[in-house]
Amino acid sequence: MDIAITRTTAPKQKPAIEGIPFGTYFSDHMFLMNYVKGQGWINPRIVPYGPIELEPSAMVLHYAQEIFEGLKAYRTAEGKIQLFRPTENIARMARSAEKLCIPPVPEDIYLQAIKTLVELDQDWVPSAPDTSLYIRPFIIATDPHVGVHASHTYIFCIITCPVGCYYPEGLNPVRIAIEGREVRAVRGGTGFAKCGGNYAASLHASEIAEAKGFSQVLWLDGVEQKYIEEVGSMNVMFKIDGKIVTPSLEKGSVLPGITRKSSLQLLKEWGYEVEERDISVDELIAAAGSGALEEAWGTGTAAVISPIGEIVYAGEEHTINNGQIGEVTQKLYDTITGIQWGKIDDPFGWVVPVC
Ligand SMILES: *Cc1c(COP(=O)(O)O)cnc(C)c1O
Repeated sequence: MDIAITRTTAPKQKPAIEGIPFGTYFSDHMFLMNYVKGQGWINPRIVPYGPIELEPSAMVLHYAQEIFEGLKAYRTAEGKIQLFRPTENIARMARSAEKLCIPPVPEDIYLQAIKTLVELDQDWVPSAPDTSLYIRPFIIATDPHVGVHASHTYIFCIITCPVGCYYPEGLNPVRIAIEGREVRAVRGGTGFAKCGGNYAASLHASEIAEAKGFSQVLWLDGVEQKYIEEVGSMNVMFKIDGKIVTPSLEKGSVLPGITRKSSLQLLKEWGYEVEERDISVDELIAAAGSGALEEAWGTGTAAVISPIGEIVYAGEEHTINNGQIGEVTQKLYDTITGIQWGKIDDPFGWVVPVC
């Protein structure tokens, strides 16, 4: 598949990486491809980063027929650039696409698009420790039609932005609030799909929690409001009595995270007993009270591993591991980031070189 490349004639000045706000500065180029019913995905191209023209009636603007992905390119000490498990993102986007009635992007074009874009904008992959280039592929429905059905035309776009060190002061355990009223996803809904609508639905509860000084909301299931699902836009894991426990993906309301999958594989490799199952909020609070809850952390591409130091439920505060980062949490962070930046060997074949 040939990707036509139109280089920018006005390369942008790169912002200083130290203290750069997440998702604000974008690199020089973007990838675009169109879908037209009857023709399939056509016209793959890389062009200078810039606005996309849309009809005000474009379906995505009214009915949120949109899906996205998030992954990163990492620069190794030798100056090489590599991706972490990109085919997992590509496969997940195909599952999101099916749920949102969006035609899937052929996998080979998708990976070629990411690699070509990152290679072209390789100077945008920062080299300071713990920095990376965030890659955001997304698909929007573009039919100029205010009517509820699946669009017949789409745009697939990939943009990238340099991101700084997530933890400039070291891993810092966060405070989270268990959300007892609002829910993010329901059984039978779009929880497993990475779609913008899920995020729109999560804003209200998150804003209220942030105003109260919490960094994230711990979501409960949408049916009984009893079982733990996710923390903010991360998956969540607990170490209870020496075992690793995490919500299962069975009900379809939890996003199947790639950091989650990688963490579980490592934990099993290290000999931990891992349980993917329902965890009720009562079980969690009881474990916190008895001291059986040894560690808690979130997993996701942006922060990789995010230690949880305190949970608040029904007005009561529960401190985990004295608010300190736990041993397993730290080991997961060190191992996954070590593989991503090429500091330690990758025995799993997770890393894919770009250039
Ligand atoms: C993207 C995402 C995650 C984390 O997935 P990773 O593949 O690990 O980045 C978890 N929960 C939600 C809701 C997400 O959108």
